Amino acid sequence: MTETSTTTNGSYTVHHHEYDVVIVGAGGAGMRAAIEAAPHAHTAVISKLYPTRSHTGAAQGGMAAALSNLEEDSWEWHTYDTVKGGDFLADQDAVEILTKEAIDAVIDLENMGLPFNRTEDGHIAQRRFGGHTREHGKAPVRRSCYAADRTGHMILQTLYQNCVKHKVEFFNEYYALDLVMTDVDGEQRPSGVVAYELATGEIHVFHAKSIVFATGGFGKMFKTTSNAHTLTGDGVGIIWRKGLPLEDIEFFQFHPTGLAGLGILLTEGARGEGAILRNCNGERFMERYAPTIKDLAPRDIVARSIVQEVQEGRGAGPNKDYVYLDCTHLGAEVLETKLPDITEFARTYLGVDPVTQPVPVYPTAHYAMGGIPTNNNAEVLRNAKDTVPGLYAAGECACVSVHGANRLGTNSLLDINVFGKRAGRQAVKYARTSEFVPLPEAPEQGVIDMLEHVRNNTGSESIAQIRKELQETMDTNAQVFRTEETLQQAAKDVRALRLRYKHASIHDHGHRFNTDLLEAVELGFLLDLAEVLITAARNRKESRGGHMRDDYPKRDDAKYLKHTMAYLTGDPMSGDPGDHITLGWKPVVITRYEPKERKY
Ligand SMILES: Cc1cc2nc3c(=O)[nH]c(=O)nc-3n(C[C@H](O)[C@H](O)[C@H](O)COP(=O)(O)OP(=O)(O)OC[C@H]3O[C@@H](n4cnc5c(N)ncnc54)[C@H](O)[C@@H]3O)c2cc1C
Repeated sequence: MTETSTTTNGSYTVHHHEYDVVIVGAGGAGMRAAIEAAPHAHTAVISKLYPTRSHTGAAQGGMAAALSNLEEDSWEWHTYDTVKGGDFLADQDAVEILTKEAIDAVIDLENMGLPFNRTEDGHIAQRRFGGHTREHGKAPVRRSCYAADRTGHMILQTLYQNCVKHKVEFFNEYYALDLVMTDVDGEQRPSGVVAYELATGEIHVFHAKSIVFATGGFGKMFKTTSNAHTLTGDGVGIIWRKGLPLEDIEFFQFHPTGLAGLGILLTEGARGEGAILRNCNGERFMERYAPTIKDLAPRDIVARSIVQEVQEGRGAGPNKDYVYLDCTHLGAEVLETKLPDITEFARTYLGVDPVTQPVPVYPTAHYAMGGIPTNNNAEVLRNAKDTVPGLYAAGECACVSVHGANRLGTNSLLDINVFGKRAGRQAVKYARTSEFVPLPEAPEQGVIDMLEHVRNNTGSESIAQIRKELQETMDTNAQVFRTEETLQQAAKDVRALRLRYKHASIHDHGHRFNTDLLEAVELGFLLDLAEVLITAARNRKESRGGHMRDDYPKRDDAKYLKHTMAYLTGDPMSGDPGDHITLGWKPVVITRYEPKERKY
């Protein structure tokens, strides 16, 4: 460890460190970046979780790459599917990079030791996934590389082992709470990161030349979600508070098959292996919504179809509020060997055995398509075209945009590998050719003020209650179907919650392992991002991908074939809800696929 000095600030001990490259986040994206950076530059990874507890480890179904191991495939078909799946909002130059580099990304992991499932002749096995097709939609294609239904677990373990091999320095259970910016000739330049050490309550200032954000998603703003408790959008929130833009936050993906009532994910790999969705009459209803690829339509379409079935009275169960995922015809062997985890989840959490019974499912909040805007080299944007020197983002917290308005399954594990690697490379390149930007005086002050405010608040409101109500209003008003009316309600609710948040107090006032304190800070980020989502969603008066407006059911390319760019420009507590947010646009890059109607 390279601590340069220790000082004090009030009751806080402050440790100072210096690194060429600091990566915030030790999920797939952060560790892939670290593997690229560490051999060439002095690199640290800061993570609020022990690395192998990151959400990447929960990923089940697989990682897409047109390897053609079981049938003919091409990166061009993969590009087309991704662009069409994203409802033509993805930047096509970025998607081409994603799909071309997919092949090397899988080989890299293979070389690092990842135990993929195999074909009989020893190649990496592949399976079908929603929206992945041959010849531009003719039929589903086997493109997803997998390790049973534990692909993310294997990726995370493999990357971690390789980080250890490359001697990456980890700061685990350190919460990054601020990005330090220094005024250099009138321009704000990133100079470091301030983190809070969970075990001691001490502060760490990391002075760095290059800073990579890889902090994952923010599904915890919803009640029903597949996301881990820790996915609270801290990194995205930090960037937002610095006045830097966020892109396409209104696009959130609801995965069709969460365990009903719980939201725990059942991978789309189940449908890839042949499972079928049925309504209360036993009907395979996806035949009506997507006649060609049926249950393997992209997630936005399947999730909407499920909600529509339920709304029209064809839901199953005592309250008619879910549908069934029928795996019974797959047989015990396929379930136990290719889908063992989800088989166990259904047994454990619902007491349903997928071998003999259909499993109750309903859409669950799953993935943030939007995030911190970057160019194709993971460089963070300060507006629709200019970058912030030395600042990078990759993985779910970033928006390149390769997923457009709706991500295809298995494209995120791919994204974190391709753009994590690019972020690491670019960070090294920059660190090698630039000097440290000096830190401002007492760079930790903002974080200490924030922590002290939360710690000393004496109001009667409870953090857990505010979080619960936030999640409830987001589920009720900003989920699969949205209208101006529901979004207005959500905006009003979140504003009221923000007011109550100012008067919330915590029970634990200590310094060691104060998770109470950190949950309060995390809720602050969730409230910020919920407001961005709602404001951007109200502004986009069309339906596209994961953003479905009942009052504007059609896609409107004339007006909205462009990315939303949201900026924090005012006081969140003044004016009408959302008045503190200024919205702008960024053009979509189209290389060869002109938008057309999306049919499956
Ligand atoms: C249940 C589930 C199944 C999925 N299955 C698939 C699949 O089969 N295929 C697919 O392509 N995608 C899948 N996805 C999506 C995919 O797994 C994620 O989008 C991807 O793994 C995100 O990786 P990441 O590195 O960006 O973030 P994460 O893996 O979430 O890592 C985030 C990191 O940031 C750190 N962090 C966050 N905040 C802070 C802070 N304030 N300070 C310090 N560190 C911080 C955390 O400690 C963590 O290390 C699935 C997602 C879920 C939830």
